[in-house]
Amino acid sequence: LMAFEGLTERLQNAMRKLRGKGKVSESDLRETMREIRLALLAADVNFTVVKDFVKQVRERAMGADVLEGLNPAQQIVKIVDEELTKTMGDEAVPLNKAPKIPTIIMMVGLQGAGKTTTAGKLALRLKNEEKARPLMIAADVYRPAAIDQLVQVAAGIDVPVFQLGTDVDPVEIVRQGLAQAEANHNDYVIIDTAGRLQIDEQLMDELANIKALAHPNEILLTVDAMTGQNAVATAEGFNDKLDVTGVVLTKLDGDTRGGAALSIRAVTGKPIKFIGQGEKMTQLDVFHPDRMASRILG
Ligand code: GDP
Repeated sequence: LMAFEGLTERLQNAMRKLRGKGKVSESDLRETMREIRLALLAADVNFTVVKDFVKQVRERAMGADVLEGLNPAQQIVKIVDEELTKTMGDEAVPLNKAPKIPTIIMMVGLQGAGKTTTAGKLALRLKNEEKARPLMIAADVYRPAAIDQLVQVAAGIDVPVFQLGTDVDPVEIVRQGLAQAEANHNDYVIIDTAGRLQIDEQLMDELANIKALAHPNEILLTVDAMTGQNAVATAEGFNDKLDVTGVVLTKLDGDTRGGAALSIRAVTGKPIKFIGQGEKMTQLDVFHPDRMASRILG
C-alpha cells in the first residue's frame, strides 16, 4: 500500500543524497533538513508540527557524535523514523474499557467523515475479536436516511440497533437505549450521533448533553484523512468542546498526502486509535505509530 507516495518519495530522496556521502557535514545535514521540512509541508502537515519535528531531528543528529560516528546517514534515517513514530504518539492506544459492562462508545464527527461506517466496523471488530455482543444506538434524528443507513450497516454484520425514529430527543433515545443494553447484558454500546457539514454550537451542545447522560468510556471522533488540515481543525474543534478520548482516521486508503495522520496527535494530544482503509466492514485497523512511520519512509 503506497498511501503517501509524494511524501515517501521526497523523504527517500532527501535521505538518499546523504547516503551517497562518506561523511555528512553540518551543511549536508542542513540541506537534508530543509528538504524534509519541505516534504512535510507539501504533505499538508501542520506547520508547528513540522517545525518541532525538524528541530528534534536536527538536535539529535547534531548531538551524540552522530555526524562523526559510523554510518551517519543510516543513523539519521533511524532518528527520522523514531521522531515520526513519536510525532504520531509512539504506541498504539487500546480502546478504553468500562470496569463493568457495558463499555459505552460514543461516535462523533462531521457528516460524511465515516462515522456510521466506522461504528459498524468497530462493532464487527468487537464481535470477531472478543465475541462481544454490541448494541448500536441510532441517535442521529436529523436525517431519516442516517437511521436507515445504520440499520443497514448493522443488519450486514448482524448487530442489533436500538432506535426510536426521528421524533424523539436524542438524549432520550440514548437513555432508553442504555436501559435496553443493561437489560440485555450487552457488553458494548455504540452510539451513532448526528453530524453536520461544519461544527456548530447546537450540535456540540447536543453531543455534550449525550455525553453528560451516557458517561461514555470512549468518545471516538471520526475524521476524514483526505481533508488534511481541515481534519486537524475539526479534531481541535470537537476536542475543545467534548474532550474526546480518541480519533479514528478514515479514508486513509484515499489519502495521498498524510498530513492529518502526522498532525492530529501532536496538535490535539489525543491518540489516533484506529484507521479506516476502505469501505468494507473489515477495513478498520488499529493505528500503530511505528508501522505508520515505516510506511511513510517506504
Ligand atoms: P457519516 O456521515 O460520518 O456517518 O459517514 P458515512 O459512514 O456515511 O461514510 C461516508 C462515506 O465514506 C461512505 O460512502 C462510506 O462508505 C465512506 N467511507 C467511510 N470510511 C471509509 C474508509 O475508510 N475508506 C473509504 N474509501 N471510504 C470510507
